[in-house]
Amino acid sequence: MALRRLELPTSWGPLLLVGGSRAGEGTLVLLPQLRLALDAGRPHRALPPMSTVFVSHGHLDHIGAVAYWASQRFLGAMQHGVLLAPAAIAGDIQGLLELHATLEGGRPYDVEVVPVTGGGTYTLRKDIRLTFFATDHWVPTLGASLAWHKHRLRPELVGMPEEEIVRLRMAGEEVDQELVLQLLSYTADTGPGIFTTHPEAFEAEVVLLECSFWRPADRDRAREFGHLHLDDLTAIAPLLKCRHLVVLHPSRRHRLGEADRVVRERIGPMIRGEAHSLAIDWE
Ligand SMILES: [Zn+2]
Ligand SMILES: [Zn+2]
Repeated sequence: MALRRLELPTSWGPLLLVGGSRAGEGTLVLLPQLRLALDAGRPHRALPPMSTVFVSHGHLDHIGAVAYWASQRFLGAMQHGVLLAPAAIAGDIQGLLELHATLEGGRPYDVEVVPVTGGGTYTLRKDIRLTFFATDHWVPTLGASLAWHKHRLRPELVGMPEEEIVRLRMAGEEVDQELVLQLLSYTADTGPGIFTTHPEAFEAEVVLLECSFWRPADRDRAREFGHLHLDDLTAIAPLLKCRHLVVLHPSRRHRLGEADRVVRERIGPMIRGEAHSLAIDWE
């Protein structure tokens, strides 16, 4: 199955997003430059090289490939992997991996399950940090925001000779300043409550947002199961400041072409930035 591949211009540089998504069947979002997966709902050979996997909640369309990921990394002699999971399910995820390792012969996978909570952070690398927030779904679910901590020379030192800057640094003076840029937010499965509980998630340059349903008859279904309906999206679309809105998680009630058309013709014209679709048919 071919995944979608988006190369999004951001202030960090071109950000590569590879993935595919369908409600109930699988959501898999990869950021190969950061070796990070946001949900692992469906096995794909592009997944094992990701050394960190974040799972938003326990529904199978978001965790269906975690054992595949751990097993493939073990078989491929890839080193230590980190699995970030909401604290509410981290123990069960750990048990799931142990069970699979037992079924495969008893050698444990080299995977560390790290429980994360709303408001908590995780340092992916020196300049990239993840922050987690609760979404509006019907089981405990977290979204994740990715911030770029950019270090640059303090403006008053720009143009100063290099040896002078080195001297200041040696003397213990702070020569850098840190800028924090909200690069990307993945809002996982969520109803419209997220717009009021975590408006900061929508300050990122790239926002990944679900849109599961769009027929009028599916409004109640969306509400009941904590998903977004197109009406919810179009209500807030003019307020979205993001440079890229990546829409995912369409229900199988809708054909793929229809999902892409909704993004292109209904959502795209309503936002300031560009709208993209990560919808695919897994089979
Ligand atoms: Zn889902
Ligand atoms: Zn779900």
